[in-house]
Amino acid sequence: MNIIRSFATKAVKTSFQDVVIIGGGPAGLTILSAIKTSPKLKHLKCTLVEGQSLEPVQKFYDNPPENYTNKIVSLTPKSIDIMTNKIGNWEFINQDRIKNYDGIIAYDSQDASSRIEFDINLIGKESLATMCEVINIQSSLYKKLQTLKEEGVEDITILDNTKVNEIENPIITEQDLENHDLNQIDPTLEKPNLDWPIVKLNNGEQLQTRLLIGADGYNSPVRKYAQIESRGWAYNRFGVVACIKLQYEDFRSVGWQRFLTTGPLAILPLTEDNATIVWSSTPELSELLLKVNDQIFPHLVTAAMVLEEVDLNYIYSVLQENPNDFSVLQDIEWRLSKFDARTLDENYPLPVVELIPNTRARFPLKMSHADTYVAPRVALVGDAAHTIHPLAGQGLNMGQSDAFALIEALEKGMDRGMDLGSTLVLEDYVSNAWPANHALLGVCDKLHKIFSTDFYPLVFVRGLGMKGLNMFDEVKSLMMKTISGR
Ligand SMILES: Cc1cc2nc3c(=O)[nH]c(=O)nc-3n(C[C@H](O)[C@H](O)[C@H](O)COP(=O)(O)OP(=O)(O)OC[C@H]3O[C@@H](n4cnc5c(N)ncnc54)[C@H](O)[C@@H]3O)c2cc1C
Repeated sequence: MNIIRSFATKAVKTSFQDVVIIGGGPAGLTILSAIKTSPKLKHLKCTLVEGQSLEPVQKFYDNPPENYTNKIVSLTPKSIDIMTNKIGNWEFINQDRIKNYDGIIAYDSQDASSRIEFDINLIGKESLATMCEVINIQSSLYKKLQTLKEEGVEDITILDNTKVNEIENPIITEQDLENHDLNQIDPTLEKPNLDWPIVKLNNGEQLQTRLLIGADGYNSPVRKYAQIESRGWAYNRFGVVACIKLQYEDFRSVGWQRFLTTGPLAILPLTEDNATIVWSSTPELSELLLKVNDQIFPHLVTAAMVLEEVDLNYIYSVLQENPNDFSVLQDIEWRLSKFDARTLDENYPLPVVELIPNTRARFPLKMSHADTYVAPRVALVGDAAHTIHPLAGQGLNMGQSDAFALIEALEKGMDRGMDLGSTLVLEDYVSNAWPANHALLGVCDKLHKIFSTDFYPLVFVRGLGMKGLNMFDEVKSLMMKTISGR
């Protein structure tokens, strides 16, 4: 723990809190809503600090934009269950903008016959997962918090447009810490000398808190403050996202994923003829995908779901020369015409016909996992604790499970009359959440590595693996249960 001398607190306005959450992304708003919904924790004095404006989040509930926004995630039934039964924000989700889907068809670019089809009928459930915009989730949580306030739940403060500049520990020496009985907390002290972290805001104010929750994303200032090591690697890949329109609404309601050697390309269904893509690709290809002409881009996506990689590389090279070269459209059409129409209909997603304007963006992909999620008076949740390759759509879902596990630990601590910032309480959270996250991170990392190669022996073995797996319903159903968080 970082021990920093700090008695500069006298002149500055300090507000004492039970819980300060840094980050108003899905993880932070989930934690705040979960605390304020819990009968055992709702009395806690909580403040959430978010660097950006939450106005778009607030407006979304009454005035959602006409088109889909581009941060769209696949939610597992487990996450939806948490939002429905534990937090209660699911009732505020804009249901017209979510889409359940029933299966995933994944196939290998090196051998189209190597495919695995996950069908919901195998596990006898209503849906495999649900596509939902991140802002829809945030907005439902925000609305839930507003409703709780209206119902009389107190001490919910959200400070947006407010950045945390610095976090300090007020303890002077480690010996001082030993001499304090941390259960004897007196927040009325003018110059608090306990070990409650001091969060310094860019508006000049500061918060001193019993428990500091870092829901502050990959670069987490809270994780740095707590000196928790995070290990992992960058994939040297970017996830290019975009919203698109298909030729017509697909009655199949499945997600498609093609494993290209540059990374997987997924097309996931939204309502009506809308869909979203996540195209994991090299830095060079992702740059090209962002600058290709808006009218060419949809056809490029169709081509990338069907054509041989050697053909795709040729098309990329033409577009590298000129991203507005419309001659590639005839070229793509000609190459696709070599496929039997029925094969295209049955084995591939529908053609993409339109790119929704201004929805293309790219995000660097990395795998990272914090050594632990807790330190004295600190807990990490969501991307602050882990980031994962998006190929299995698990990142935000892991954050939801973190929130659930942390709330359970805090409720247990409250039942036992313990100090909620103590590691004794928080350790329960780590032991429940960390191992499951670690296993999932490992699986997705290996899948990325196995599929991003054109090394023939490995391509051959993975082809056998996919074909073989496709024949074993029990194994597939186990994988589906894992994917859907059951
Ligand atoms: C291409 C792509 C596709 C994905 N697809 C899926 C999917 O299908 N399913 C899925 O489950 N997940 C998916 N994910 C992952 C998912 O988007 C993330 O895991 C999730 O959004 C992280 O939420 P978070 O709240 O933990 O962090 P963030 O959304 O990063 O929120 C952190 C917040 O902290 C704030 N903050 C940071 N520092 C400070 C500071 N100093 N002061 C104040 N505020 C601060 C930031 O402004 C930010 O709002 C995908 C990710 C990518 C890149």
